[in-house]
Amino acid sequence: ASRFQGVEQGPPIEVFLLNRLFTEDTFQNKVNLGVGAYRDENGKPWVLPIVRKMEKQLAADETLLHEYLPVLGLEQFCNASVAMLLGEDSPAIAAGKAFGVQVLSGTGGLRVGAEFLNKHLKYDTFYYSTPTWENHHLVFVNSGFTKPRSYRYWDPKTRGIDFDGFIEDLKSAPENAVILLHACAHNPTGIDPTREQWVKIADVMEERKLFPFFDSAYQGFASGDLDGDAWAVRYFVSRGFELLCAQSYAKNFGLYNERVGNLAVVLNESAHVARIKSQMTWIVRGMYSNPPAHGAHVVATVLTNKQLFDEWRDHIKLMSTRVMQMREALRSELVKLGTPGNWDHIVKQIGLFSYTGLNQRQCEYLIQEYHIYLLKSGRINICGLNPGNVQYVAKAINDAVTK
Ligand code: PMP
Repeated sequence: ASRFQGVEQGPPIEVFLLNRLFTEDTFQNKVNLGVGAYRDENGKPWVLPIVRKMEKQLAADETLLHEYLPVLGLEQFCNASVAMLLGEDSPAIAAGKAFGVQVLSGTGGLRVGAEFLNKHLKYDTFYYSTPTWENHHLVFVNSGFTKPRSYRYWDPKTRGIDFDGFIEDLKSAPENAVILLHACAHNPTGIDPTREQWVKIADVMEERKLFPFFDSAYQGFASGDLDGDAWAVRYFVSRGFELLCAQSYAKNFGLYNERVGNLAVVLNESAHVARIKSQMTWIVRGMYSNPPAHGAHVVATVLTNKQLFDEWRDHIKLMSTRVMQMREALRSELVKLGTPGNWDHIVKQIGLFSYTGLNQRQCEYLIQEYHIYLLKSGRINICGLNPGNVQYVAKAINDAVTK
């Protein structure tokens, strides 16, 4: 008998399962609206030309070795990431109150940050939006947080934010609760608070002494504007909040599998930086010892060179524009078909995703009858759409809604 025979089968991860089913599907006009990755107008993955260029350059550079990076990563990468998030002219950076830790993409930043808060500040309660990215819960629980709580966010009736519910839940949160906030392009709903709403959120969080942990997985990708997409984080910093922010380069650099990320830490006193860094070092040391170098080199080189940076900005502009065009196209096809319901939310939402409002039965129908793969929550990845399939998808949605 094996010692392992008692191990039970775990449940599948919905988006990875969906991806596999899509790959195995032999239907010619199949459409993948599941996984959160960019696709070009031909439905193909897109390696950013700037990334290809950097990789060729790195491959030719014989001075680059495969020596370990420091535990907290490549310093130039961390500094450039924090500057991208807070702005070059950030007073917090000038005052030495902000620093970064290179981590394994956005998930790694959340994981290291959460473990730090749990271990060293003894925080045990975290709040996530309903709905949220499905991994938030697991990452925080695995980091030692024992009190998962949720705050209201999506209102299916208005297909917008339940702002009163959100504020009410913040008001009843205990002091030091960690509030997980999506910096921009909320996943999965695609609906962000307005600037006026962010002000109110900050007011309540300040009053209730809550701790903001931002998740920034789409800076620049959401609107094409790096500064605009970082507005909420910068606003909180300007109000004097101490906070963490997990930054991912998966989407905006298309570096999904390279696991490139930064955990930005903003304090109100520079005197604490050295001690916090020393403890972050021990957390990373015990988790994976030190981060990989390749992706961080690519990103750091681009972010610190004006010309390369501008090239990259054009790429994110192109990606975000294509997403917006596909939102328009899908809505206009549905309107043309006279599909019952209001579809304005598709163009009001931002980022990679649209929360369509389709119910689980309709989603399953789309998968079974039309080979259109989407999450059962009704979330679709907008860039799975392209001029060649948007009519097909709209007709299928129309059928699912009217049948
Ligand atoms: N947070 C959110 C909201 C996300 O959508 C994602 C990517 N799907 C992540 C974090 C983490 O992604 P990664 O670890 O690949 O950077």
